[in-house]
Amino acid sequence: MNIGIDIDDTITNSSEVVKEYCYKYDSVYCTDNRLIKSFERIIRGFLDDDVVKRFFNDHARNIGNDIKTKENAKEVIDKLRSEGNKIFIITARSDKFYENAQKFCEEYLKRNNINYDKLITGQTFKIETCKNEKIDLMIDDAIDTCEELAREGIKTILFNSEININKETSVKRVNNWNQLYNEIQNL
Ligand SMILES: [Mg+2]
Repeated sequence: MNIGIDIDDTITNSSEVVKEYCYKYDSVYCTDNRLIKSFERIIRGFLDDDVVKRFFNDHARNIGNDIKTKENAKEVIDKLRSEGNKIFIITARSDKFYENAQKFCEEYLKRNNINYDKLITGQTFKIETCKNEKIDLMIDDAIDTCEELAREGIKTILFNSEININKETSVKRVNNWNQLYNEIQNL
């Protein structure tokens, strides 16, 4: 299978780190708790507010370096590859905030020993990429991405996160990488 995998909140614990930064820097950037209140929108990549934009522009690279990979992400990805699957890492991270997103992600993945077949950055809407790369299964924490892909007949599994956990969806959910591996075996 060609398996697409998102980075933030799928391979990594991004919302935890973004939240820490929002709390830490809120009073530096505003007086109305705007960063704290915008935490979810920042994670989703909706940076439509000047203050939020400035904050993210200043800290995106530090946040990106502080983020840790989730337990067993590396091991499960290696196992999937050894079983003949191709791993496509598909992320919305773009040059807008990361200068050279492709290089930034490559270096991060290398540092964290995440092996893959292809890395595709700058993909806010993943549907076209998934079609072009003939992705059979996409793993993501964004409900709308998973639902949109499912409508196009692409299999999806949703990685649970603080942000999506209370939202309703018919997409199959998993809590961790071992559970994800088992779900893939049952497809
Ligand atoms: Mg994500």
